[in-house]
Amino acid sequence: MAGKPAFSAVIPGKLEYPFETPAAGSVQEVASGVLWVHMPLPFAPDHVNLWLVADGGAWTLVDCGLASSKTRSLWEQIFARNPGRRPIGRVIVTHYHPDHIGLAGWLATKFELVPWMTKAEFLTAHAACHGVGGTGYARLREFFASHGLDPSRLDAAGVQDGSYRRGVEPLPDTFHRIRHGDRIDIGGEPWRVIVGYGHAPEHAALYSERGRVLISGDMLLPRISTNVSVWPVEPDGDPLGDFLDSLNRFSELAADTLVLPSHGRPFRGLHARIAELKAHHQARLDALAQVCGQPRTAAELLAGLFGREFNDYQLLFAMGEAIAHLNHLWRKGMVRRAAGSDGTWRYVRVA
Ligand SMILES: [Zn+2]
Repeated sequence: MAGKPAFSAVIPGKLEYPFETPAAGSVQEVASGVLWVHMPLPFAPDHVNLWLVADGGAWTLVDCGLASSKTRSLWEQIFARNPGRRPIGRVIVTHYHPDHIGLAGWLATKFELVPWMTKAEFLTAHAACHGVGGTGYARLREFFASHGLDPSRLDAAGVQDGSYRRGVEPLPDTFHRIRHGDRIDIGGEPWRVIVGYGHAPEHAALYSERGRVLISGDMLLPRISTNVSVWPVEPDGDPLGDFLDSLNRFSELAADTLVLPSHGRPFRGLHARIAELKAHHQARLDALAQVCGQPRTAAELLAGLFGREFNDYQLLFAMGEAIAHLNHLWRKGMVRRAAGSDGTWRYVRVA
């Protein structure tokens, strides 16, 4: 399940982008002692951003890149150039998706370290790697069928067991636990851990109050909206409610904060971006509530919700996201949910 990250929509914002994108596998300084590493990905979005933060005589690296020979060879080239004449002294992982945790095990062995991350992300990575705890493809197929999707469409889209594992092996089997509110000393500067929900179980962002720099991971992206999906492991969950609540934690940060996102360019304007994301989700919720005048399955609503049909890997995330919006309306009491005689969930507006 969930081998690749995906994001639902492009939302243009009035944001300020102080830096141009560096070449793949090169590094660029974006704040005092903070380097941007731009790593290509073989799927959309086509790159992931990783961050080296000066930490005394070493670097603290935030996120690792996908476990692939391409990423490993780009890392080897970076290590050979030895930026700042520092080794990697610590690795912090924002969340369990393969483009973020992927090479954590490789780096842990190479630099003899234990990656820092939240407990839910560490355990979810191991569950997803082995397809247990509700993360296997059979469960996903069954779950989406209960929301009206013909399972052959998922098969045809190339969704299968093992894709997560290929992007992360070998995973580290020990970790150093971080929690919401922790202050991590990096090079004498305290970076506060801000945990967010809705995209991943216990996603960690990092904020330097003094530098007014936020390493936002996937919780705050400049152009694409973060994927927020219901997965079979928590079928009645409200990840959209969780995500919108989590955005409030970022609203409290300084207006001129430099945001370092995992996808897209560093930007300023986080309050405007948060307002756009909230408006985007509200517009989708309003549109869904409208069309649920008649009982509807999530699968029936896909094209209307996203403005296009899906016949590729994105179908997985579009379905998860459609159910997330419907479950949010349901949990708010705006729609009812009932299983029809065919066992399929249908949602209908409360009159
Ligand atoms: Zn992610």
